[in-house]
Amino acid sequence: MNVRKPVDYSAMFAALDTLMTADLPQMELYCEIGRLVSGRPEKGAAVAAAEYLCGAYPDTSGFSPRNLRRMREFYRTYESTPEVLAEAMTIGWTQNVVILEAELTPQERAWYIKAAGQFGWSKLELAGNIRERIHESLAIDNTADPCYSNGAEAMGMAKKKLPGHFCKVCGMQKSNESFSGRGHAAHICKACSRLSPARQAEEMTLRRLENLPLRRLSESEMTWLKNRIHDHRPEVKSLACMVYAQRFPRQARNQKKQELSIQTLKLNIDGEICDPYGDLMYVKESYQVSQTPPAIVRIQQDGASQTVSPPPKILAKLLKWTVHTLEIFWWGEDYCGPADVDPEDAESPLWNVHVEYSNGEIQDMGSADDVPDPVLELLSALVELFE
Ligand SMILES: [Zn+2]
Repeated sequence: MNVRKPVDYSAMFAALDTLMTADLPQMELYCEIGRLVSGRPEKGAAVAAAEYLCGAYPDTSGFSPRNLRRMREFYRTYESTPEVLAEAMTIGWTQNVVILEAELTPQERAWYIKAAGQFGWSKLELAGNIRERIHESLAIDNTADPCYSNGAEAMGMAKKKLPGHFCKVCGMQKSNESFSGRGHAAHICKACSRLSPARQAEEMTLRRLENLPLRRLSESEMTWLKNRIHDHRPEVKSLACMVYAQRFPRQARNQKKQELSIQTLKLNIDGEICDPYGDLMYVKESYQVSQTPPAIVRIQQDGASQTVSPPPKILAKLLKWTVHTLEIFWWGEDYCGPADVDPEDAESPLWNVHVEYSNGEIQDMGSADDVPDPVLELLSALVELFE
């Protein structure tokens, strides 16, 4: 009879709990679990870990025995090549699984990891490209690394060498002395190699955002960029938002509008504006709009104040229109220009707006130039509520 000796996994389970509550990004979590399971001598450790995770965290997915074995395999495959591991951390788990399970030499594996990141290949594209052995014909931005440059040299696309070496973490060209022997091959300078793998991965993600190709992005590159907009690392998130807004201003605005809801709004007009008949008229009025309780206060030139309380639905509609159609969030950018005037000579503003949004954002905008159309439209919508 085959009686298995019970194994005490309690230390591994406790370590798994620590990892699960650390709120790590997926790749880091999987890599750490792989490291943990890999450190156990028992063959059954992956299955035991899978069973434990499925029982203790029934709401999470991805912890099948098969996937746990992959995590262990992932860690074992790259643990001796930290530079490849760091690069692998920048691509998705599904891409990593494809590369891990394909029949490739370690060098080819490193090449596909780099290419998957550089071209943003989806799982399917990647699998197809490996089948086609595309590494034999495609040049990638190899930053002069002999092990990546198979295709590049042949196609005459090798980069002109600058003195010193390029560090792929900080993105700087540095002197030979700035690299250790090992760092040379990995393209990581001494300073950067002291950073944690997570920090190195973050820096490389930032470099990738900075160097996103200017051509039309592929679907998977777009997905990668969009996911970075929701990245948990604040620096990555804010750079991704900037890059996205620069390249896709329309989409970026539409996306931003979804998170904007006006809580209060103040509009002041003090000067000559064009009435609907094209005649100039002098207006000095201010409006204060608040969502809760629904109220609009108007103060006119003579100081008389009036308050209306429109039905909440009407007010909500008006404020939504102000965000979505009038695009009030961008008035500063669209109509105010840079504030480079000496405040001493600056004329008093013709119009100014103060907006507070439910997500905590606050804006103050105004200009001494013409009153732009959206401001006039908002003004007449407000006036209407008093008629
Ligand atoms: Zn560096």
